[in-house]
Amino acid sequence: MILFKTVELLQQHLKKANELNQSIGFVPTMGALHQGHLSLIAFSKKQCDITVCSIFVNPTQFNDSKDFEKYPVTIENDILLLERSNCDIVFLPSVQEIYPSGSDTGTDYPIGEIENVLEGAFRPGHFQGVCKVVHRLLDIVRPRELFMGQKDYQQCMVIARLLDLTKLKQSIKLNICPTLRAPSGLAMSSRNMRLNNEEQDQAKAIFQSLQYLREQVNKEPVQLLIDKVEQQLTEARFAPIDYVAIVNANTLSVIREWDEKIPLVALIAAYLNGVRLIDNMPLN
Ligand code: AMP
Repeated sequence: MILFKTVELLQQHLKKANELNQSIGFVPTMGALHQGHLSLIAFSKKQCDITVCSIFVNPTQFNDSKDFEKYPVTIENDILLLERSNCDIVFLPSVQEIYPSGSDTGTDYPIGEIENVLEGAFRPGHFQGVCKVVHRLLDIVRPRELFMGQKDYQQCMVIARLLDLTKLKQSIKLNICPTLRAPSGLAMSSRNMRLNNEEQDQAKAIFQSLQYLREQVNKEPVQLLIDKVEQQLTEARFAPIDYVAIVNANTLSVIREWDEKIPLVALIAAYLNGVRLIDNMPLN
């Protein structure tokens, strides 16, 4: 595995790969790697000649500076895990490399309404920051395939929109990979590291709630079901609960009544002892 810290050296290396017509798979991450991230590396390795993983905790996507400061950093372990996964290249840029003219690039991506709902409503500016960093990273790496996790459902939709807007869709294929879970059902997340064993056990309530929502589709009124699940999460000591939502899987617009023709996804965001967790599940 080769580690690059600068755009220039990484691009020099990738130029050779491109000349040999080798396909490049790209997995952008913020580090604190776990099996979920490594599953994306495995998908990329299966489909591409060269796999590039970036580790960059992107300041522009944190609306809360305390959340940014507390974001776990485990770089030595990350490098070890990537090496063991036979990742070919790890890109570890500084903030200066990613935003040479400052992080306020002045670009505003017209993503539309999906920017403002759910995560966007609770984390203003978050998806603009995500677009900024992913656009820049894609410009640097120029992959053929991009691998992202369904764990961040809304983010995948935003990136699909970004690829559309920037015309990168013509040269980059977005692969949305399934959410890896602990045996309890808890979605793997870098933030889980901030929970102790007891809290990690409590946190499985999110997965259980999503399963319950899936079982109850069409069986009781939508709002009543959501109220019940909020109650379940409160009893499992989640507070505050940012949202429990059942939305159209293609538009993210909230549904108020069951309609079998609409593809549905349920999404939850809630805090457990100061740690914000998100998860989602397709319902039909
Ligand atoms: P992050 O480091 O949290 O920005 O995540 C980097 C990538 O890994 C994103 O595309 C995430 O959606 C994906 N990811 C995070 N957790 C999981 C998981 N449990 N299963 C699959 N992919 C994941």
